Amino acid sequence: MGESFDIRKWFKDRDELLVISGPCSVESREQLLATAAGLSEIDKVKVLRGGIWKPRTRPEAFEGIGEEGLLWMREAKERYGFLTMTEVARPEHVELALKHGIDILWIGARTVVNPFSVQELADCLKGCDIPVFVKNPIAPDVRLWLGAIERLGGAGSQYIGAIHRGFSSYDESPYRNAPLWEIPIELLRLHRNIPIITDVSHICGCRELLQEVAQTALDIGTLGFMIETHNDPDHALTDAKQQITPASLKKAFNSLVFKKKKIDADEAVLQNYRKEIDVIDDELLNLIAKRMNISEKIGDFKKEHKMTVLQMDRWKQVLEDHINKGVNLGLNDESVKEIFEIIHKDSIDRQL
Ligand code: PEP
Ligand code: MN
Repeated sequence: MGESFDIRKWFKDRDELLVISGPCSVESREQLLATAAGLSEIDKVKVLRGGIWKPRTRPEAFEGIGEEGLLWMREAKERYGFLTMTEVARPEHVELALKHGIDILWIGARTVVNPFSVQELADCLKGCDIPVFVKNPIAPDVRLWLGAIERLGGAGSQYIGAIHRGFSSYDESPYRNAPLWEIPIELLRLHRNIPIITDVSHICGCRELLQEVAQTALDIGTLGFMIETHNDPDHALTDAKQQITPASLKKAFNSLVFKKKKIDADEAVLQNYRKEIDVIDDELLNLIAKRMNISEKIGDFKKEHKMTVLQMDRWKQVLEDHINKGVNLGLNDESVKEIFEIIHKDSIDRQL
């Protein structure tokens, strides 16, 4: 069980999935201990999470139990051997969490949007080697996420991780927070050493989507999960719709397919496919360059004849034709549209 789990070693080796679970909010001693008891039946769960101070959208909502809850977190830790983790938004929260033996901290999505708040937290964490996870900001802004990670790094924190919890959006979507998987992937490209785990609960906002999103996260290569559990989810004081019982979590784990980054088997087949892809990518680049050359010639012609660069009817026709052809070839219409929009924008820029 959690007793022997060494989170600092995990940061170095990342050799097993880091599973963090527990209630959105710590509500009472009974609730926390009952949830922890259920979670202690699941080997994969190493860390017990619990929100002690809750950032709420409206002021009349439950804002967290406060310091008293930290005593129950300690009790759950002693009884079941979990490491414990809570959200901090203010330096006072950090002091109290440390005083009560919390093992890991996270900075929430609403705090990460504010560089002043993040800097204050980084300053008060100076000289302290507690691991800290940084959730993505609510807006899909990878630089803001990276900036928060850099502020903590600047304060000397060695154990910094990232939590992908999805992004707020006005677009219609089945998710509470759209996953936009390309953003954590971009974070990893910009900061190659950061371990990223996935908070499936805040992405989904409901129980029904959890399994599917968790599988996608595993397929992409997530290093762990944060998932909210409650002994009586329907009566939870916060995020009732997305919390599940520890028993449901256990079931969900049984039907997930866990993937490996590297396999022991011969990878020659994969390498051959990759060579083929490299050749095709070269061809694509050459073709795009060739297309841009012709585009410049068209630009010269338009200039000479005092024609406008944008020819809307032609562009509409081209895009429609390409989407239709693409769909017939089994491509995704949105992707074809985006590819040609980028190409067309570059053509227009060259002709101006
Ligand atoms: C939470 O984990 O309960 C929470 C408030 O998360 P987020 O900051 O991702 O909204
Ligand atoms: Mn929550």
